[in-house]
Amino acid sequence: MSDFPYAERFPVQRTLPEQGRPRSELLAELTAMAQEEDAVWESGKISGTMYCGDHEHYAFLSEAFAKFAHVNALQRDMCPSQTKFEGEIIAMVLDLMHADAVTDTTPAGLVTSGGTFSILHAILAYREHASATRGISTAAGRLPNLVKPETAHPAFDKACHLFGIENRTVPVDPATTLVDPSAMGARIDDNTIAIVGSAGNYPYGTIDPISELGRLALDRGVGLHVDGCLGGFILPFGEELGYGIPPFDFRVPGVTSISADTHKYGYAFKGSSVVVFRDKAIRNSQYFHQLAWLGGKYMSPGMDGSRSGGLLAATWASMTHLGREGYRRYAGEIFETAARLMDVVRSHPPLRIMGDPTFCFSFTSEDFDIYHVADFMKPRGWRFNGQQYPNAIHLAVTRPQTKPGVVEAFSSDLADAATYAQEQAAAGRMSQSGAIYGGVVGGLTSEVETVMTTIMDGMLDTQQSLPPEVR
Ligand SMILES: *Cc1c(COP(=O)(O)O)cnc(C)c1O
Repeated sequence: MSDFPYAERFPVQRTLPEQGRPRSELLAELTAMAQEEDAVWESGKISGTMYCGDHEHYAFLSEAFAKFAHVNALQRDMCPSQTKFEGEIIAMVLDLMHADAVTDTTPAGLVTSGGTFSILHAILAYREHASATRGISTAAGRLPNLVKPETAHPAFDKACHLFGIENRTVPVDPATTLVDPSAMGARIDDNTIAIVGSAGNYPYGTIDPISELGRLALDRGVGLHVDGCLGGFILPFGEELGYGIPPFDFRVPGVTSISADTHKYGYAFKGSSVVVFRDKAIRNSQYFHQLAWLGGKYMSPGMDGSRSGGLLAATWASMTHLGREGYRRYAGEIFETAARLMDVVRSHPPLRIMGDPTFCFSFTSEDFDIYHVADFMKPRGWRFNGQQYPNAIHLAVTRPQTKPGVVEAFSSDLADAATYAQEQAAAGRMSQSGAIYGGVVGGLTSEVETVMTTIMDGMLDTQQSLPPEVR
């Protein structure tokens, strides 16, 4: 698919138009684009990204959103509704994460604009809290550090990059895909502000040994952030359904904060996530205020300034509409579908599921380049995420895959793909996707950076420079 399929069909905006266009015309244009793009995931062959995939649910959220889309949640005097929505979203996530097990401190939370922002806020809070309570700060000659497994999301690297924190990454066991707590312990020192574990991690969907990491954190006097961005809204229901999910929430001593994405398995709109803290004092340490500003005394609970009231309303609506019963029902369908998909993978001995995952999994092969499988499945409409070190195919199972027929289609397409991959390997051919990956990964760092910059520039800048003859 071209990156600019609409350039020939709809006007390309190179300047702010002098005369506006009629609403009906614009809505027709938007409808055409949305329908074509929805058709891609409605097939159920797309990994992750569309978590709910239910147009009735989206229409309901849109209605809730529309009532407050124009509201700025920063200005609370005008909109007590936002105080209700935000407070109740936090309360519901605290409940889900078993904050009732916390007796010595007051748990608290923060609604953010996405998983990355939940992680950024947590790490910023640890940095500020460690500076205030333990004297760890660059100004005091002590560079703060964060110890994390290599499976942890790049948002932690981003946090270290943005906030001047040393990033200590610990390798995981290639067989279990889990981090070894003693290897984590070896990287902790006096300047460690926090350690990280994932429930589950994105690359393999596996859950780090949170109980052991909790003991380690308590023993060494550091924070433990559990990244439940992916699993936070589905693992608790997997546990209720008897899937043998190890505890990862506030019931585990030593867990001091948890991120959980409402915009993933919370089935809310994109642009919302929650981070909860065992101790309100840690959350509050990242509050910001500027009392001396000419524009008046300013404060904001997180990094955002103005915020959308619509997103708070829609997130609240998603959670209160589904309730535990709804989340449990959806989780049951997803866990069952994932188990069936993994059985399909296991029925092909050259394919290997990595670690012991549940609703999100990856597989690789020791016999052939796994990207041959992706190459073959792609024209049949499948879109998986390609992973590296080692190469693997990743599938986060979401509601679109629970539709009848998807597992059956996966089963027959994967059988053909495995045969194809074996033939390609026997003929000594390289996979297309593998070649691209190999090219990027094998190149010099400066070349890789150029490629990455070109890709990002392409997203942001190319539209402006589309040749005028296009339209
Ligand atoms: C998605 C994800 C994140 C980051 O979330 P964004 O919402 O994309 O910013 C962090 N951790 C894990 C495990 C995730 O799956």
